[in-house]
Amino acid sequence: MNILFMGPPGAGKGTQAERIVEQFGVPHISTGDAFRKAIGEGTPIGLKAKEYIDQGLLVPDDVTVGIVRERLAQPDCEKGFLLDGFPRTLAQAEALDSILVELSRSLDHVINLSVDRDLLLARLTGRRICKSCGATYHVIYNPPKQEGVCDKCQGELYQRSDDSEEKVGTRLDEYINKTAPLLAYYEDKGLLRQVDGEKEIDTVTSEIVSLLRG
Ligand SMILES: [Zn+2]
Repeated sequence: MNILFMGPPGAGKGTQAERIVEQFGVPHISTGDAFRKAIGEGTPIGLKAKEYIDQGLLVPDDVTVGIVRERLAQPDCEKGFLLDGFPRTLAQAEALDSILVELSRSLDHVINLSVDRDLLLARLTGRRICKSCGATYHVIYNPPKQEGVCDKCQGELYQRSDDSEEKVGTRLDEYINKTAPLLAYYEDKGLLRQVDGEKEIDTVTSEIVSLLRG
């Protein structure tokens, strides 16, 4: 089972991916993990990536693609994989196609977790952190007993600037603009499966499972 997972920040992609890899016994491959692994093992492409990262430079596409190629060629991916966070652009999607041809593999499903932008905004801007003890809350999902006050230490709760509506909105729009062509690409190939990520976590999981077992 070769699966690709897509979805905006806040759609619950990480949670669902964890559940799916457990059910299907395939490795969860995120680009972040693949980078850490390649760098940790000191593979040639890992060392190349490290040079860019150490200098604080953006890792170029061909290096990222090389890392993914190396990771997908490893034995634990033979029974399948769940790829998450790659591709992010059309060029990367085409590169992934070539990698899979090289490995005599193909994608079975592209799962897109869709969630309305306003709901994503609410989810992503709701986090509050205690100034004194660092405990985290969420105004919708895990609210403190008293608004703005930490349950544990009575400290004051604040919102990180990264969680502000403006920053989150920009991040979401970037994601939406960048991935729209990718969704169309996989739709054309008949691989795209839309899953309503606004439902309950367990419901979303069972919908993905039945799609994959389909
Ligand atoms: Zn506190």
